[in-house]
This record gives sequence, C-alpha cells and structure tokens, in this order.
Amino acid sequence: MADSIRSLSGSEELTGQYATDTLKIDLPHVPLEAGASPANPPCPACGEPLFPWVGMPVATGIAHRCEACGLGVLSHGEKFDFEKRPGEAEPDDRKPRISFHFDPGSPEDALRELEAGREQDGSYVFENRDSLTCWLTGGAWVGLGTDRRYRFTPKAVTDLIATRDQVVTKTRWRPLKGIGVMWQSGLNMFTFGQNVVLGSLGRAHLVAADRGWKRMLDWFISVVLAVPAVIFALPLELIGIAMRKGSVARSEVQVL
Ligand SMILES: [Zn+2]
Repeated sequence: MADSIRSLSGSEELTGQYATDTLKIDLPHVPLEAGASPANPPCPACGEPLFPWVGMPVATGIAHRCEACGLGVLSHGEKFDFEKRPGEAEPDDRKPRISFHFDPGSPEDALRELEAGREQDGSYVFENRDSLTCWLTGGAWVGLGTDRRYRFTPKAVTDLIATRDQVVTKTRWRPLKGIGVMWQSGLNMFTFGQNVVLGSLGRAHLVAADRGWKRMLDWFISVVLAVPAVIFALPLELIGIAMRKGSVARSEVQVL
C-alpha cells in the first residue's frame, strides 16, 4: 500500500515536470511594414501595406485590404494572374504573381469618396468592411458589388479624417439597413450575380451575371431563399451590432 502511494506520488511528480515550464512559445514578431512592396502599396488611411484579399463578383476585379485599419481598396477590371511554372511558358513569358500595377490612390481620393456618404448633419454613413456580415460572407459581401474604390471601416474613417484635424465622436449602427445587407450578402453566396434584389430596388449596386440563363436562375434562387435568409440575417445582424461590427455604420465627427 505504501509502495503504491509512493509510486503514485512519484508519477505525479513526473507529470508535474512535463506539464510546467515547457510551454513558453516565443513566436517571432514580424511588423506589417515588412510586407511593403510595389504589389503591396501603402493604405491611404493609415500607411500600412495593403494585401490582396478576395476576387470581386463576376470577375470584375480584385479587392485588397489593410490588415491594420481594415480599409478595403477595390481594383476594378483586374484579375489574378498566377506565375507559370518552368516548362509551361517561355522564359520571357513568366510574369509576377500579380502582374498589374495596383494604384491604391491617395488619402485625398479616399476622403473625396467618404464625402459621398455625408449626411445633412455632417456624419458619414458607410457599409462597414469590418462587419460581421463581411467576415461571414467574404467575397459575397454586398459592399463588393460597387462602382466605388474604397470600402471603409470605423477605424479607417477615424484615421482618414484625423489628417484634417477631425475626430469621430460616436459610431452608431443602422439596424434595418444592416439586416438588409446581411440578407442580401447571404443570398449572394448562392447566386452568380451580386446584389440581385437590393440592386433591382436601387438600394445597392447590381452586378448582373454574364449570361441570360444565369440571371434567370439568380432570380429563382433569390425567391426560394428569401424567407430562410431573413431567419438567419435578423439575429446575425443584431449579434454583429452587439459586437460593434454592424453592417451599416454612421460615424459622427467633430472638428478639433
Ligand atoms: Zn490602413
């Protein structure tokens, strides 16, 4: 009996040796600036490098995003072009992974576009790229079906307007519009085109599918999924707002 107690306590000691002091993980810290290159130009809002994020609907372009402030920068008409392997192409035909010249524009360009969403009282309304909707639906997010260049976040707006001595005093959410964005983004996950319903109602930018039969099928899918999508969109948007990641934001600003 005493032996078994001793051996048990011995094994505990052994376990204790393994369990303690061995799990200090020291990962190297790489600053975002290390990713800066001609293909990763600086973010117009905060200056950190932009990285390719996702293809835009109906192959209309490529979306980049800033990992620091979340700003989305859309490059309309561009496509990913992957480097060919040796043997697949002539040596002079090998291109870099992204062969186009990505121009993210200047802070002034971004501010000009922000002004398009200015309300009567001076606040700014925008579809939030840092929303739960965008996180859940990715390339199907309503905000990617647009003719605009910039997709804002509350942080990006704060950084941008700081350049002209303004501060964001409060960011509120638009629940009804937000539920609509969550709903349409959910439908976009199943359709060829983007923003089929809200776009037809003039509430979003419609990106139609490239073939007639796809456009017809998109309407059929939208009608079939309309009610089930509401059942998901309503609680999800309310959760998003509770997390301060609502779909449609309204930032109130003040001059310093
Ligand atoms: Zn940024």
